[in-house]
Amino acid sequence: MSVLHSARLVLPSGVVEGGWITVSEGRIAAVGGPQDPRPSSSDGHDELDLGGRWLLPGFVDLHVHGGGGKSLTIGDADEALGALALHRTHGTTTSLASLLTNPIDDIVRGAEVLADLADDGHIAGIHLEGPFLSHIRCGAQDPAYLLAPDPAALDAMLTAGRGHVRVVTIAPELPGAIDLIKRIVDAGAVAAIGHTDATYDQTCEGLEAGARLATHLFNGMRGVHHREPGPATALLEHPEVVVEIVADGVHLHDAITRLVFDHCGPNRVAMITDAMAAAGAADGIYPLGPQMVHVQNGIALLEGTHAIAGSTLTMDSALRRVVNSGVPIQDVSAALSTTPARVVGLDKEIGSIAEGLTANLLVLDADLAVDAIMIDGEWTRKPF
Ligand SMILES: [Zn+2]
Repeated sequence: MSVLHSARLVLPSGVVEGGWITVSEGRIAAVGGPQDPRPSSSDGHDELDLGGRWLLPGFVDLHVHGGGGKSLTIGDADEALGALALHRTHGTTTSLASLLTNPIDDIVRGAEVLADLADDGHIAGIHLEGPFLSHIRCGAQDPAYLLAPDPAALDAMLTAGRGHVRVVTIAPELPGAIDLIKRIVDAGAVAAIGHTDATYDQTCEGLEAGARLATHLFNGMRGVHHREPGPATALLEHPEVVVEIVADGVHLHDAITRLVFDHCGPNRVAMITDAMAAAGAADGIYPLGPQMVHVQNGIALLEGTHAIAGSTLTMDSALRRVVNSGVPIQDVSAALSTTPARVVGLDKEIGSIAEGLTANLLVLDADLAVDAIMIDGEWTRKPF
């Protein structure tokens, strides 16, 4: 058993100064504060003094396409593992891999490859971002391969994913979308509303059919107007909906990020990267699905357009940005770990520092830089 002590423990309920935890057989065995008696090294335990550093749960990224120059979307396992390795060094201990709009046979092949990676524990599941999306709001998704909602195409992708498809993004205003949302939910996946030109009322219909997640709120959706409040207003208004946000200062102004936290509280916000291959890599030209993306100063734009084509964000830099913009660290941690784990049904295993959960942990220094990473109770980056 290991004891980690003298930490600033970040729990969903708040920060515990001088806190400690024990880790045994890959799990968090006990959690205590400064007043609680903790096991001592004289009992034969390993002891690590964190010297007042932050201790947080590992990040859970529900929406990522690549990183480190590698892609998760092209049906290549080695590329996918490279992208996951980059994000792991930035504190992401659990990822859903996001496929893009492509010819349906390519999505099916991508899902088969990702299902193998899920079987082996490299990813926690698959997010299908397309192809049932709006032509008007498709962003960097290739419009040539968008489809009207089609049960047979959905079933082909779900079958290829072998139970690992956890999220499907869909535009609820498309013909047949409401039935397809019900089909997604019946299959045990989360229906997410996104890349949509739906009105407020059409979005509400999608939510009544069972959709429970907003794909990158505000991005890739009709804007807010005081006479046509649009999807964002409907998604914010429904307390059962979790909203993804890309808090990189490019996709959203920091004031909007604060507004979302103020309105929703941490239990309804899932911070995501939506990262493409250039995350953690140099500026340049990168493929994103079948299209090319120009990355300059870390901003990814579809070549020849002003459409934002994913981000170059990592979860640790998102944490620093949002904490420094004034959101309490325990709320940011909940949005990076606890809430995303819960929305895809993983909260009994991961997503917070609590007894019995998997010991996926991050040690951050006073500047909120990642100092050490533990996955399944093993240090993948040794502490200082
Ligand atoms: Zn995306």
